[in-house]
Amino acid sequence: MSIEFKIPEAIEKQLQPVRSVAENVMRPESRQLDDNEHARPVKFVHMMWPQMQQMELANLEAALTRAQKSSNGDESQKNGPDNKPRSDRASIANLSLVYMIEMLSWGDAGVYLCIPSSALGGAAINAVGTPEQLERFLRRFTEGEPKWGAMAMTEPQAGSDTSNIQTTATFDPQTNEWILNGQKIFCTSGKLALEESKGLVVVWATVDKQAGRAGMKPFVVEAGTPGALIGKVEEKLGIRASDTAQIILDNCRIPAENLLGNAEVKTGPSSQGFKGAMRTFDATRPIVAASAIGIGRAAFEYTRDLLAKQGIRMDYDKPRWKLTTVQADLLEMEAQLHAAWLLTLKATALLDAKQENQLESSMCKVKAGKAVTWVTQKAVELLGPLGYSTELLAEKWLRDAKINDIYEGTGQINTLIVARTILGYSRTELK
Ligand SMILES: Cc1cc2nc3c(=O)[nH]c(=O)nc-3n(C[C@H](O)[C@H](O)[C@H](O)COP(=O)(O)OP(=O)(O)OC[C@H]3O[C@@H](n4cnc5c(N)ncnc54)[C@H](O)[C@@H]3O)c2cc1C
Repeated sequence: MSIEFKIPEAIEKQLQPVRSVAENVMRPESRQLDDNEHARPVKFVHMMWPQMQQMELANLEAALTRAQKSSNGDESQKNGPDNKPRSDRASIANLSLVYMIEMLSWGDAGVYLCIPSSALGGAAINAVGTPEQLERFLRRFTEGEPKWGAMAMTEPQAGSDTSNIQTTATFDPQTNEWILNGQKIFCTSGKLALEESKGLVVVWATVDKQAGRAGMKPFVVEAGTPGALIGKVEEKLGIRASDTAQIILDNCRIPAENLLGNAEVKTGPSSQGFKGAMRTFDATRPIVAASAIGIGRAAFEYTRDLLAKQGIRMDYDKPRWKLTTVQADLLEMEAQLHAAWLLTLKATALLDAKQENQLESSMCKVKAGKAVTWVTQKAVELLGPLGYSTELLAEKWLRDAKINDIYEGTGQINTLIVARTILGYSRTELK
């Protein structure tokens, strides 16, 4: 695998309209949508939908090809004759996505999360769905009206410790259905996914509590399914334009074919249920990292430009010890974001090359979560009282930043994954 530091031309082209949306549609609405937590960015949603449909179509076609080849056992087709990844469109699909998300989050991270797409739900379906399931659940995101996907894993007693999931899935052989019972909390776009026509939520439930992680399976619950109810919609510190909902599953019956993968419970390291969840995160953690970096870049650029107007400019030629403290801070902010971005590009390039990236995806998530938290705090500090005032967006960026260090595995949990992988410890040896 080689890494190219220049933005690929195809991505640069795609980014131009995204930059314009970020600047001219998202930023002007930032403050108003932050102040009115449950309002929706309707104009933005409709503007983004055609582009999202195209991306969903490219992803679906790539996933179908991959699933078909793997069911034919045709491993050789994954790479070209030189054993390097084929440079078809799908091979930069994830790269293109992280560039886009970085830019949109520079615009507004909360508004970006309102984009109609299969999102985390789609990533789970992609990771473990059969070709028939990919077609049945993901084709809808390529046509018709805007729709949303979501993934519900977290429960009141199961956040970092996913093995503690209490939501149950019981098979009813009479009706050939699964019956889901339990409560999910903090589900991003959960309300949109269940309330808007043809949305869906991938719900993780246990088919065998005794089996721990091995008993965990993903189930697709479609909008309008009786027994899938929206509970509390959270009021939050940041990303307030994004809906975060509680989902109650009350004897929620879904067809047997809505279980992603198979129902077999295999314990031990080859546990399919947990592996499925991990494969989802390998694809989505770089996306969270990209979003973090977008927020960080917004805060950094604003601070740098405002200070430059007051005569405080970054100076790359002077040795660090000759810089003022403020100049050194600005340099450090930029360096932290660059470091996180390079790790994100590596994790994403591996993903596009269909290579193992669990270590890299956790690494970039940890680094980006920490970097954005620090950078946005520095921005508020360097901007003085104005930074703390709602007159600027700096205080909002600080609030929006923190979530990137929480969802999709907290900073601590991803650090644990990195340590375990590097040191070769199991989850019981290092916890
Ligand atoms: C806005 C928002 C959106 C979300 N969206 C989704 C979503 O779409 N789908 C979904 O399923 N979930 C979602 N979540 C939930 C999120 O993934 C969890 O909050 C996260 O996984 C942490 O779980 P927890 O909150 O239960 O914290 P806990 O697991 O209770 O952890 C509390 C603290 O202890 C630390 N900790 C825990 N275990 C260890 C350990 N072994 N070593 C060191 N430190 C440890 C954690 O890092 C954390 O700091 C969302 C959360 C928020 C706030």
